[in-house]
Amino acid sequence: MRVPFVDLKKQYLSIKNEIDTTVQKIIDETSFIGGKYLKSFEKNFAAYIGAKHCIGVGNGTDALFVALKSLGIGSNDEVITAANSFIATSEAITMTGARAVFVDCDKDTYNIDTKKLEKAVTNRTKAIIPVHLYGQPADMDDIQEIAKGHNLYVIEDAAQAHGAKYKQKNIGILSDCACFSFYPGKNLGAYGDAGAVVTNNDNLAQKASMFSNHGRKEKYDHEFEGVNSRMDSLQAAILDIKLKHLEKWTDRRIAVAKKYSEGLKDTVITPIVLPDRRHVYHLYVVRVKNRTKVMKALLEKNIHTGIHYPIPLPFLKAYSYLGHKPSDFPVANSIKDEILSLPIYGEMEDVQVLYVTDQLRQIITRLY
Ligand SMILES: *Cc1c(COP(=O)(O)O)cnc(C)c1O
Repeated sequence: MRVPFVDLKKQYLSIKNEIDTTVQKIIDETSFIGGKYLKSFEKNFAAYIGAKHCIGVGNGTDALFVALKSLGIGSNDEVITAANSFIATSEAITMTGARAVFVDCDKDTYNIDTKKLEKAVTNRTKAIIPVHLYGQPADMDDIQEIAKGHNLYVIEDAAQAHGAKYKQKNIGILSDCACFSFYPGKNLGAYGDAGAVVTNNDNLAQKASMFSNHGRKEKYDHEFEGVNSRMDSLQAAILDIKLKHLEKWTDRRIAVAKKYSEGLKDTVITPIVLPDRRHVYHLYVVRVKNRTKVMKALLEKNIHTGIHYPIPLPFLKAYSYLGHKPSDFPVANSIKDEILSLPIYGEMEDVQVLYVTDQLRQIITRLY
């Protein structure tokens, strides 16, 4: 049996008619940028999150960049974020001219460790970007309390967490704004690059909308210089179709994760979900010893896995100028060689979940 890491083709086939008809219609209308398809998705995604505004942009990295710029963050500022994330989070900070300040992760959730957060605050700190890593919300109450105490903005990196909840509230409305990615492999994925900034703040929404579209409201009336980072009509229309299925796909991810956790709890370290969280399992991450051997053995059984992420951000060559040592981020450093992402997606079948569970158990028994 083959178990891919994700199966975008299977998902496409399940909605093919609607997608094909809509894509053809947009090509026939030649309405490629802005317009009704973008407006419709922005309205529907804002409603899904329960926020006032959604601004479609080019990708998730730009969503973070646009949000930071719209909050006035730039050179001489510092922005705190998690040591284990995708580089986009810290890249967006650096792109504004600010400095990325990393904080170690919690040993259970791998999210930013709020007990170590306040020590990272200096008189240059302007914002905190918690990442809802793998789809589990970060500890937003603690983060908000620290942010309030030091007058900092909070920008959620929600690229892996569409539909996640923290204490019954949707992530995306727990802070100044939240940034989503609709990269094809994300829980809600476009057929190309796309992203969005979601906020309840009218002023921030207007700035973000203008900044991502050359600093304008009207065609040639540029009030300031911005960038060109827009979500195009094809992506917006595709996302609008897929949004209707997102809850169903998310529930299936959660069901798959539950099956994995039941079947694997005595074999590997399975994900820990804190109370009052809806973890949406963009990734299902376990911890194993001898990871390279385990991955190879799984691949021999046609099971495809991933590592998110093999090198914590502070240890990347890209950040060698910051001069960090492994002992500065002991938890991120201790898990980096053990974390392993198993296949998970909304179209995964029970037989596939069982197959992965059985094979992994056999491999681990054989290796240890
Ligand atoms: C995917 C991702 C991003 C960036 O999104 P793009 O759309 O690929 O630019 C940012 N942060 C995290 C945590 C991500 O997983």
